[in-house]
Parts: sequence; C-alpha cells; structure tokens
Amino acid sequence: MSIKENIDHVRSEIDEICKKVDRDSNEVTLIAVTKTIDTARIGQALNENIKDVGENKVQEIMNKYEEIKDAKIHMIGHLQTNKVKYIIDKVSLIHSLDRVSLAKEINKRAKQHNIIMDTLVQVNVANEETKFGLKVEAVESFLEEIKHMENIRVVGLMTIAPYEEDSENVRIYFKGLKKIFEELKGKDYSNVNMKYLSMGMTNDYKVAIEEGANFIRIGTGIFGLRNYDK
Ligand SMILES: *Cc1c(COP(=O)(O)O)cnc(C)c1O
Repeated sequence: MSIKENIDHVRSEIDEICKKVDRDSNEVTLIAVTKTIDTARIGQALNENIKDVGENKVQEIMNKYEEIKDAKIHMIGHLQTNKVKYIIDKVSLIHSLDRVSLAKEINKRAKQHNIIMDTLVQVNVANEETKFGLKVEAVESFLEEIKHMENIRVVGLMTIAPYEEDSENVRIYFKGLKKIFEELKGKDYSNVNMKYLSMGMTNDYKVAIEEGANFIRIGTGIFGLRNYDK
C-alpha cells in the first residue's frame, strides 16, 4: 500500500473508533513517526495534510530539519541532557521528560531562547526495565520537584506500552494512565496544564483512542516496516 493509502486507512480507523466511543475525531492528532524514513517519503506524508511528525533521535531532527520544519516536530525518543541545546528551538513538544536533570536543562535552554517549552512526562506504565519513564507513583513528586521551572510547561503524559500481540492486553495500562492524567488535572501547579495523552502506536492505537489518547504516534502503519541498516 502507498503512504497515502496507509494514511487514509489510519484516518478512517480513527474516525470509526471515535464514533464507537462517542469522541470527536478532531481531538485526536495523528503524529507520523518518521524515524529512519527519508525526506522524499516524509514529503509524501506531508502532502497528505500531515501536520505533526515524530522523531526519536536528535541527529535525525537536525539532518531532516529543512524538510520537516513546516510541520510540528515532536521529540518522542529518549533525550540526552547534553543534546537539548540542539533541538530546543526546533521542536514543538518533547514527549520524553523523565528526570529532573533533563527538566533543568530544558528549562535553562528554553530561558536562553526566551520560550516556554511544552513537554509531556513519560511514564513507564508497566515498570519495564528496558523502557525509560517515571513510574506511575513517581509522577506527582516529580511535578512537585520541577514546579518552579518557569520555562517548562508540562502539558500531559506519554507512554510506550509493552508490546503485545493482542492489544487488548495493554488496555489496562492505558486506562491506568488516563486515570492519573485526570487526577493530576485537579492539582494546582502553575507550570502544569494537563491536556494531552500521548499513547498508542501502530499495534495498539485503537485501544489507546478508546481509552482517551489524543496524540497517537504511528510509524509502521504509515511508512511500512523500518530499515535500520541504512
Ligand atoms: C518508533 C516509535 C513509535 C512508532 O512505532 P510504530 O510501531 O512503528 O507505529 C511511536 N512512539 C515512539 C516513542 C517510537 O519510538
């Protein structure tokens, strides 16, 4: 299938699921995950009215910046503290805020650029050793620790669910994240405004939307299998 057909397919699935659970499909933003994808193929996606792209490596954002800069760029991968300075003025949202040292660096660089950087706190919903992110129980104390950082705004939560052949098995994690998202909405931190839940990838985005995701991150479902050897 072509990139256009894939995008059409994902969009019609989004519409269908939203109808089923009585949500407005306009509130679900499709992020095309462009990691490892060359700029010609990314261009095909941008031609289909894709406005949001996700990359997981600083170097790839730098390399492709000229071609993707008209879209909103989402940093969705693990972010090394010493690389924040390269992307601070290039990305619209950092999905992978997971530690105080990173928050400090983002805050410092954002201040230098006179901006407020939007971020999502990454949560490791299943406590997997192989994944980054805060444990569910640690999110609130983390927000407490960074509440004085004026050039950071936390606008929601992000998670990467465990891979399960049957995506029904991850519903419990999405439900759990939605629950703490709602709880945190009620707290009063001046640099927190809980609006976005970034959860759901090719394998599990339908369940994620049913459970309240408003950012879904789709790579394979748009571009096909990735080739990491190039
Ligand atoms: C690669 C990646 C995705 C997209 O994964 P697919 O299964 O190809 O849709 C989503 N989120 C993150 C953080 C990723 O690194």
